Amino acid sequence: MIAFENVSVSFDATEALSCVNLQVAEGVLCALVGPSGSGKSTLMKLVNRLVEPSAGRVLVRGADVAGQDPARLRRSIGYVMQSTGLFPHRTVAANIGTVPRLLGWDSSRIATRVADLLELVQLDPDLAQRLPGALSGGQAQRVGLARALAADPDILLMDEPFGAVDPITRRDLRAELRRIHAGTGKTILLVTHDPEEALELASQVVVLRDGAVVADGAPAALVAEDAPEFARTLLGGGQPG
Ligand code: ADP
Ligand code: MG
Repeated sequence: MIAFENVSVSFDATEALSCVNLQVAEGVLCALVGPSGSGKSTLMKLVNRLVEPSAGRVLVRGADVAGQDPARLRRSIGYVMQSTGLFPHRTVAANIGTVPRLLGWDSSRIATRVADLLELVQLDPDLAQRLPGALSGGQAQRVGLARALAADPDILLMDEPFGAVDPITRRDLRAELRRIHAGTGKTILLVTHDPEEALELASQVVVLRDGAVVADGAPAALVAEDAPEFARTLLGGGQPG
């Protein structure tokens, strides 16, 4: 579903990614882990062309993204940003309806979809007409997730989506993500700082260090005794769930 072939990314003097090869099969939830600055966000942004490779190719559904219209590509891929990235002057309902509106859905279809999504992410329907500023951190993250899911994309990119919420909300959101993934078979790339989250949710874990993939495998393999030391340390020797 997603493939990186010898991909490098340079920003001026910094090489953010160097010769990354990685494949994520359809329906897999793949966790990207690694220290700050290791290239996780850059790797994710290659998929929807928020970042361009300086070498190599990125394939989505078998086609090189370089030949695809960025706006169209982004409408087909859900993206949950670290900071939720909600439009502050648009209501919750308008935020969730962003992509359906761009796709030309009529307003009653959008309203129905918004109501369904609020239920899916377990938000009170009364929040639909609020502005993002009136929401708690956890509620805003749920709206961000609902917005990413709005047009039912088969690929979901999530950049530390639960980083800014309290542990209890985080646990709830994690459970919701697991349910959504189990129920829809979406291909999901999840950047996370939380080893437990990676080991619990993902069937593929990719470890980045200084812009290179240093480990790529099933959770159990990455915490096994013969796994690379760096991966084991980063994942805290935790038990895959
Ligand atoms: P992570 O998400 O793992 O913390 P990033 O992918 O954000 O890492 O960044 C990888 C490296 O690339 C870092 O050294 C970062 O400073 C650099 N970088 C990322 N985006 C840009 C940019 N737009 N311009 C310049 N440098 C960047
Ligand atoms: Mg990042």
